[in-house]
Amino acid sequence: MKEMIYQTVCPGCNMGCGLYIREDEEGMLAVDFMKSSPANLGKLCRFGMQLPHHYSKATSMVGGVEASIEDAVQAASIKLKGAKNVAMLAVGATTSEEHLAFCRIADAMSIVVNTGIRAYGEIPSECHPAVGMGLPLEDIEQAKRIALFVDPYTQYPLLVRRLRAAKRNGATIVAVGWQDMNLADENKYIGPDQYESELGLDSDSIIITDVHPHTDPEQVKQVLNLALMTGARSLFMKPFVDSTGAQLLSKGKGHKGLRELMDGINEGSIKTLVTLNSDPLELMPNSDEAAGTLEKLDTLIVITSREGAVNKLAHIVIGTEPLYAKAGSFMNVEGQVLNNSGTGTSGIDAMSTLAQNLGGAAFDFQALHNKVLESIVQEYTRPKYRELVCKLMETAEVGDGRGNLVCVSNPFMWFDQPDDNDFVMVNMNMVKKLGLRKGGMITLTSDAGTVNVRYTVRDVPDGLILSMKKLPVATGSTTEVAMEAA
Ligand code: SF4
Repeated sequence: MKEMIYQTVCPGCNMGCGLYIREDEEGMLAVDFMKSSPANLGKLCRFGMQLPHHYSKATSMVGGVEASIEDAVQAASIKLKGAKNVAMLAVGATTSEEHLAFCRIADAMSIVVNTGIRAYGEIPSECHPAVGMGLPLEDIEQAKRIALFVDPYTQYPLLVRRLRAAKRNGATIVAVGWQDMNLADENKYIGPDQYESELGLDSDSIIITDVHPHTDPEQVKQVLNLALMTGARSLFMKPFVDSTGAQLLSKGKGHKGLRELMDGINEGSIKTLVTLNSDPLELMPNSDEAAGTLEKLDTLIVITSREGAVNKLAHIVIGTEPLYAKAGSFMNVEGQVLNNSGTGTSGIDAMSTLAQNLGGAAFDFQALHNKVLESIVQEYTRPKYRELVCKLMETAEVGDGRGNLVCVSNPFMWFDQPDDNDFVMVNMNMVKKLGLRKGGMITLTSDAGTVNVRYTVRDVPDGLILSMKKLPVATGSTTEVAMEAA
């Protein structure tokens, strides 16, 4: 095989950063910058730079034994025909065309595809466009004032470029979070009841927040209300390469959260799980606990382009071509359709056969691609909805060795990739109170278990433990924990 060069999009988040993947004769991969890419102008964050590590080719398997993709599809068809209590999960980590193909299989079984984001199930459907639909990234640069509810450096690094441009154009930035952000003109540590009065937003403002499988729906509602009351536009950042496309293409259908799906398996209401490029072991805070849950299934069918941890637990793996080699497109957070240069359709062809075996219609890549193009978000229109009733978000009483653990999501966390951020941040007051030793560790205990982790001292609020990696004791965006010196 001669060297191949693929034009593709980084799967680390929904920014839509373009790049080239070079595959040499031995199958070794390298990343090349794509200066013409509008979302990132050739720049990549450290996740994007490590992409060869992310692409590990999947092998089709049946019952733990290597099989052809055709045999894996036939085995999956037999398991799914007439099966009850089936759930499907696709978070948006593959092309829009594959997501649509997956939806067609769901249609054939009269079930829905879950994107794993609980917030969509908890907000009224008229609010879905406000969350699912983004706005042009260039508009950030023209905003007069920006309220940031994310840490762009950690979570969506290529946002920083847009925010710097906005500042050069005269914008002021107010950050609402847990630690001072250099980029911000003001840093506020305030609760939702003060958002409207303290953030100084109006119709020339943009609120930047995010929505992902562990987002507290109440936080989404609070931001929607803030946008409604102030007239500001909202931009919900998202964590997977096709998060926007997946949401749009699954619209109108039920969305179970990832944790709800895992609860369903534990309670026995879900007996068969079919996933598309979505690994619950990587996505859940506690991989071991998630593995224990998946082992309760009668059947686990994994359709994937990667060799993830879940493949080893699956009864059937339908291994498709790597993401960069697929024919297809992704919809980024702006609603732009970004095309892959690959021509592989083994995933779509496998899903077409599966859909037909289950009584559905055949489809091909071109038909799916045309449907995706019909669904393009053309331009931002202000979504219409009414003020939402919000519950109080629960946090722990700080003190007496108790605090709140906040895990800030980032691309490394979603794909369980090695990262150097293997510490939590606490302030000096907590170090003194808990008697933490220099170079020592802190023990965190929640309802989900106990973990020992390295710490570093930062200027964060008292009682807050901030983590940039997933921790097995986390149960949501914010987790009440007991803490002591390890
Ligand atoms: S992880 Fe996100 S910000 Fe980083 S290169 Fe990939 S798409 Fe861009």
